[in-house]
Amino acid sequence: TEELLRNTEKLVVAGQLAVGIAHEVRNPLTTVKGLLQYSKSRAEPAYYDLIMSELDRMNLIVSEFMILGKPEAPSHRPIDARAVLRELLAIFDTQASRNGVEIATTGVDELPLSGDPNQLKQVYLNVLKNAMDALPFGGRIDIRFETSGGERRIRFADDGKGMSEETLRRIGDPFFTTKPDGNGLGMMIVKRIVASHGGRLSIESEVGRGTVVELAFPGDGS
Ligand code: ADP
Repeated sequence: TEELLRNTEKLVVAGQLAVGIAHEVRNPLTTVKGLLQYSKSRAEPAYYDLIMSELDRMNLIVSEFMILGKPEAPSHRPIDARAVLRELLAIFDTQASRNGVEIATTGVDELPLSGDPNQLKQVYLNVLKNAMDALPFGGRIDIRFETSGGERRIRFADDGKGMSEETLRRIGDPFFTTKPDGNGLGMMIVKRIVASHGGRLSIESEVGRGTVVELAFPGDGS
């Protein structure tokens, strides 16, 4: 309980701090990215890709932290979960091709949900970032959209490192990370957002084989 309390306090402080910093960093980051894109023709191609993907990485971190300060109640409206993913996948293009990771999307063309598109993007970001991190030597990420018994499902399967039982038990705890440069907030955010959408999260994983993260959301009755 004491540790839980300490973690909660840490989270509140970290949240306030993080949002402040994230807002400050976001604008210059956007400017730098824009300028770099503009001067692409004059840039060393190898450096261009690297700088671009590092900037994307910074953007990921910034948006991860922004969510900490967002109010609990998301603004729900009808959205297409697959279209929301499409908007986001571009962020991973550079990194994926550089790391030899193939990302495939299958299943139904549309997955209507009631939700907050920005929060859903956060979920995708964190899950995909983890899948990428689990594939340092390349591999596959399969994303599948399904409707089953009125439930809307999104499944992310990677054939990466996988997780030990201990990691699987602790995943989503604040600040739990096994990565030297991790912050252990990604899956906590995912859990929080999925719960606020009335959905559920299930994770299956095996060391050396890979991981399946499944999100299930209630259908809209149609
Ligand atoms: P972080 O990515 O900063 O470590 P997360 O909360 O996103 O924080 O993840 C917590 C931990 O869960 C990771 O450090 C990693 O050990 C494990 N994990 C999450 N997703 C995967 C995955 N797809 N494959 C293997 N391990 C994973």
